[in-house]
Amino acid sequence: MPYFPTLVGSDEIKSRIGQTARSGRLSHAYLIEGRRGSGKRTFARLISAAVCCEAKDDPTSPLPCGICAACKKILADKTPDVRFLDRGEKATISVEAIRTLRSEIALSATELDYKVFIISDAHTMTPAAQNALLISLEEPPPNVLILLLTESCEAMLPTIRSRTQLLRMGYVEDAHLKEHLLKTSREASALAKSSPEKLSAIISAADGRIGEALRLLSPKTQTELFKKRQTVSELALAFAEARSFSAIYTATMKLPTKRAELTELLTMLGDAMRDLCSVRRFPDAKLLFFLDRSEATRLAGQGDFARLFAAEAAVRRAIFDLNANANVQITLTALASSAFAAI
Ligand SMILES: [Zn+2]
Repeated sequence: MPYFPTLVGSDEIKSRIGQTARSGRLSHAYLIEGRRGSGKRTFARLISAAVCCEAKDDPTSPLPCGICAACKKILADKTPDVRFLDRGEKATISVEAIRTLRSEIALSATELDYKVFIISDAHTMTPAAQNALLISLEEPPPNVLILLLTESCEAMLPTIRSRTQLLRMGYVEDAHLKEHLLKTSREASALAKSSPEKLSAIISAADGRIGEALRLLSPKTQTELFKKRQTVSELALAFAEARSFSAIYTATMKLPTKRAELTELLTMLGDAMRDLCSVRRFPDAKLLFFLDRSEATRLAGQGDFARLFAAEAAVRRAIFDLNANANVQITLTALASSAFAAI
């Protein structure tokens, strides 16, 4: 019978954790890594249900069964034995918050087989908070499960990584993602009829993440996404048409200066430039950014392959620099210069 049947994708970790949960040999702590909207919280809740499920010894039942009293309470967030810790509005999770959690970890479960602690955005725990958690990870009381959710396991202290088992959320293929959205989201079904190209853009931007696709389908985020796509299209045009340094510089300086937002836009721009390089060489290549192949082909025809390739490399370099904490303005100026030098 299937493991975690309500979670789409991530088959490898579903099978691994499902078999381990059924055999009762689950580790006491897991580090679940995945980008925003990749289903980390859903999976953590399902693992909690799997260890407490009343049907876990019945090999003919899916795990979790989803219908026993324990599963129902956990999946509806109605039990004190499964506790989420979020950073809320704060930038980090403090050592005080972890100390409070530790005092709760010492108490037994009240109504379920296990007591589960799920820490969201675990990478935002301060080093002191991570160190405070180490004791609980080293000597956990019996029947306690700790799940740390993070966007990057690299942001966790090595001592935390070595005391937990790593699970990486998987990628859902576009076709599979679309099928799921059409079955479960009213907005997706409406968009499929009114503007199928917009639905394709959302699926492409979600990049294999169901939660992210659902977020992008909300009207407010849809508007933001299409504004970002417009900015990226204009910049790709400036890079491809290679009119003048001032045209490239002006377009580059329109980019946002907040690091996270800029990185997101440059990632889209990198995909757009990669599309232009691809269609130049292989007219039928899979496109990552452009929805209209004829537009990509037309833009790619504006410049030779070496120049487009160098412009894409300049964008990738800018993303690399931003991730390495380089100054935003200097990175943008260097991007405009490199993209022009490529011309
Ligand atoms: Zn159950």
